[in-house]
Parts: sequence; C-alpha cells; structure tokens
Amino acid sequence: MVNLVTLSVGGIKDISTIDYPGEVVSVIFLCGCPFKCPFCQNWSLLDYKNCNDTEISDIILKLKDYSDFVNGVCITGGEPTLQEKGLIEFLNQGKDLGLLKLDTNGFYPRIIEEILKMKVISYIALDIKTRFNPIEYGTACGLPESGEKIIKQVKRSIELILKEPSIIFEARTTIVPNLIDKEEQIEEIVSSLSGVKRYVLQQFRSDGGTLDPNFKNLEMPSYSKMVKLAEIAKKYIDDVRIRTLLNGEEII
Ligand code: SF4
Repeated sequence: MVNLVTLSVGGIKDISTIDYPGEVVSVIFLCGCPFKCPFCQNWSLLDYKNCNDTEISDIILKLKDYSDFVNGVCITGGEPTLQEKGLIEFLNQGKDLGLLKLDTNGFYPRIIEEILKMKVISYIALDIKTRFNPIEYGTACGLPESGEKIIKQVKRSIELILKEPSIIFEARTTIVPNLIDKEEQIEEIVSSLSGVKRYVLQQFRSDGGTLDPNFKNLEMPSYSKMVKLAEIAKKYIDDVRIRTLLNGEEII
C-alpha cells in the first residue's frame, strides 16, 4: 500500500508580491501552531478544522500551474515546521518550484536543522516576538509559563540559520500597541541579535480579526512610530525595513 503524505493546508495564494522581498511568489498557508499569540491575524489556521488534508503531489501540481508567473513559493502558517513529515516531503518534491522561503516562529530548531541540511530553502523569516525576557516573550506568544523554553528554542534556531550564510535571513517583529511597541524593547531586541543582517518591523493589523478579540479594536501603530522604531534598530543592524499598510516594504 502506498503511504501518501499529506499536509494540512489552510489555503494557497497563487500570486503575491509581498511575501518574498523583491520576488513574486505563490504562498501556501499551513495549519497548526504551538503558540497562541493574542495578536495573531492568521488565527483561523490554528484550528485544523479550518484546513484540508491535501496530498503533497496535489499541492505541487497546483503550485506548478502558476510557476510560469512566479519565481517561487513562500511557506507560511500557522507554523509550517509543526507538520514536520509533510513539510520535509513537500520540500523534497517541490525543490524545482523555484525560490523557497520559510516563515517560522523558530520553536522547532531540530526541524529547522533538518531543513537546512536539505539545502533547498533560499530565505527564512523568523519571528522575534519581543525581547528575550521569559515573562514578556511567553506573554507575547500567549504562553506566559513557557517563555524560558521558547526563548531557548528560538535562540537555537537563530544560531543554526546563521551558520548558513547562503540563506537570506530576516528576523522580524510585529509592532503591537501596548505589547511590543516601546523603544527600549526594540533596542533590546536588536542588540541581542548579533550576526543578524536584516531586521524587519511589521505593522500590526487587525482588519481580519485577531486570536484574542481584545486586540481587534487596537489601532495600528502609526507610520511615524514605525519609522522611529526602525531608526533605533538601525543603530545595530544595517538592513532595517518596515512593512506598513501605507507603503508596503521600505528600507530605512
Ligand atoms: S502569530 Fe503566533 S499564533 Fe499566529 S501563527 Fe504566528 S506564531 Fe502562531
């Protein structure tokens, strides 16, 4: 009997100009995440009931339909590395799809290590939720008791990725009102990212709802605030960018 490997998929966006800096890619949204970030905009992907188990070969076929129009695929979620077996198989079968980018929260360094060994990924974007303070980090992930463990795992993931200089590595933080929006937080984050060459500040948005409904009514941080925080990051990292609703991605 053939053992077909599947992935739990929340959706596929055929063409995107915002999910791989400088490239046009398709995007696949994978389900499940070990975190419960209260500000999560992809909250529907945290519940497998909102997703479909799909055979890898079918996913590849669908993505190939668009390969003439895009340069690759961004794999995002949820947390893609949570579906270890399916993700590895997808990367095996999909290595000819062009540039492959992985978005991750960094919680599973062992799987990131496996993926790095495959040498098929060209870009990794890893969330730095906030500064490496256990209470603060755990709270930002919606798991206040687990901050210490999460920080350890995330740091290990960063260390592993930095050993692969051929990979474009982006560390990124979503600026969320009253949670992660203070100058001293950004300063502490970037000063702890030794070796990281690209740092992106993303503007919190709630137009699609948030995991914790209390975050839904928060206003987006202002454009000027985003620039101000980016200028602080610039003291430590040369390539600093912001992603805002107003202007998309900008290098500061
Ligand atoms: S924002 Fe948090 S909860 Fe949502 S997918 Fe990302 S890591 Fe998971």
